[in-house]
Amino acid sequence: MNPVPDNNPAVKKVRGRFAPSPSGYMHIGNALAALLAWLQIRRQSGSLVLRIEDIDSARCRPEFTLAVMDDLRWLGLDWDEGPDVGGPFGPYVQSERQELYREALEQLSAGGQLYPCYCSRQDILAAAAAPHGLASEGPVYPGTCRSLSAAEAAERSSRKTPSLRFGVPDREVRFTDGVAGVRSVNAADGGDFIVRRADGIFSYQLAVVVDDGLMGITHVLRGADLLDSTPRQLLLYEALGYEPPSFAHVPLMMGPDGRRLAKRHGGITLAELRAAGAAPADITGWLAWIAGLLPEPEPLPAAALIPLFDLTAIHTDNIVVTAGMLSRLHPSLGQ
Ligand code: GLU
Ligand code: ZN
Repeated sequence: MNPVPDNNPAVKKVRGRFAPSPSGYMHIGNALAALLAWLQIRRQSGSLVLRIEDIDSARCRPEFTLAVMDDLRWLGLDWDEGPDVGGPFGPYVQSERQELYREALEQLSAGGQLYPCYCSRQDILAAAAAPHGLASEGPVYPGTCRSLSAAEAAERSSRKTPSLRFGVPDREVRFTDGVAGVRSVNAADGGDFIVRRADGIFSYQLAVVVDDGLMGITHVLRGADLLDSTPRQLLLYEALGYEPPSFAHVPLMMGPDGRRLAKRHGGITLAELRAAGAAPADITGWLAWIAGLLPEPEPLPAAALIPLFDLTAIHTDNIVVTAGMLSRLHPSLGQ
């Protein structure tokens, strides 16, 4: 597998992506990350890819894919390549890219970096979804199956299909995040992670790296909940021989109770805002204010925000969204 050929003049050098999982309607937290990803790339006249991350098929529904695409367009966030418009790096839907993940696993396996794991289903089931916060990934895997002898592994395989884990090296992984700054962690601290579940489903960690790598993504901007996944992904970039992108992890929106902003804090899906009469410019201007790009919320369409984009101005801490702030988005909110 070859990453993007850089001698193709049609392929822009700056490439970013939206990578939604179609497991629900888009809410303002998703919209914040999408707006900032779009602004970062449009500011540099780069290309944007829309990739639908639906490998965790039990949680994904086709109607959500359509709804997310509608919501992005309605907000004024367009893309240059994607499932609807095509492009040179398709398919742009993960469930259609299984062969590429299989090839990547073969490559990792040939490099001696994978081993079968026969442990319980719990941690294994969790692996296909992007881990939204450390806790959702479960406890650190203690390496139980790492040093099974070939005979033991063979004996167990005859009774149970294993998952596959990537054996992480015991060394430091260092990177500079565009928002969070210099990060340095020991790769081994997170434990060996799953790249394919026992039921054959590829993990989020594997799929996202194969896709970003093969699609030539140069800039990944996403929610801070994935900051802790980045060292693992960097190890996969290295093992697969892809050039890693630059990363920027933008703050999450939290409710006053300190939990992620969700349904319980009021009607905050884009569909609901639209139904309540909010205009796209109300939302994009408010999001830009929330993120730190505007001193006050004012209705501004996404395109008008492009010259204001500045990664260094974006808040580094998660944003606690109060009722007062929500009421500045739309009068029907925040009561
Ligand atoms: N599909 C993931 C999600 O919806 C995002 C993956 C990423 O940006 O790396 O959370
Ligand atoms: Zn195991």
